[in-house]
Amino acid sequence: MRVCIIGAGVIGLSTAQSIYQHFHDRIAPLTIEVYADVFTPLTTSDGAAGLWQPYLYDKGNVQETKWNKETFQYLLSCLSSPDSVRMGIFLQSGYNLCTEPLPDPSFKDTVLGFRKLTQRELDMFPGYSFGWFNTALMVEGKTYLPWLMDWLRQRKVKFYQRKIGSFKEV
Ligand SMILES: Cc1cc2nc3c(=O)[nH]c(=O)nc-3n(C[C@H](O)[C@H](O)[C@H](O)COP(=O)(O)OP(=O)(O)OC[C@H]3O[C@@H](n4cnc5c(N)ncnc54)[C@H](O)[C@@H]3O)c2cc1C
Repeated sequence: MRVCIIGAGVIGLSTAQSIYQHFHDRIAPLTIEVYADVFTPLTTSDGAAGLWQPYLYDKGNVQETKWNKETFQYLLSCLSSPDSVRMGIFLQSGYNLCTEPLPDPSFKDTVLGFRKLTQRELDMFPGYSFGWFNTALMVEGKTYLPWLMDWLRQRKVKFYQRKIGSFKEV
């Protein structure tokens, strides 16, 4: 089977990795090719801070919460890997500040140590009357993308620098 992925940002490279992990020992031959007009360090993903946190209210979308949780668990498991520094993965704690009370977010039980802010903490941030504290993860694009490219190259994934205008071109 020949698989073509268009795009070499975090989504394209993660897709290539995931397809390799799920299918390389089940489908033979399996050829994976990545086409992109720009590669690391020039993608948008290279400029991302890389904080894991769903930003948009998900309107109770259970599937989205499940995917978010699986991603968090996967990245958390990478922290104990000897490669975690080369991957650019690390824990990041911090405050979410709000001007009014909000319902608990869908990621409440996914992140580590989620809690509402105490009055003493809120006093440090004039203008804010509500907030959360938790520990999440950072995956720095400018580090993670080169690591993913190396990982894929070692498994013979091929890369082509080309702008694609139609699926027929691949
Ligand atoms: C300043 C900044 C900070 C950010 N911080 C965060 C953050 O902290 N956390 C977070 O989750 N998100 C953050 N984001 C958002 C995040 O960067 C994007 O959601 C993410 O990088 C999108 O990844 P992608 O792989 O879809 O796209 P990209 O990284 O843009 O990659 C797209 C790829 O597709 C290729 N491509 C597109 N069209 C074609 C074509 N026709 N032919 C060939 N190749 C093509 C491009 O060349 C490129 O390789 C941030 C974004 C910015 C700008």
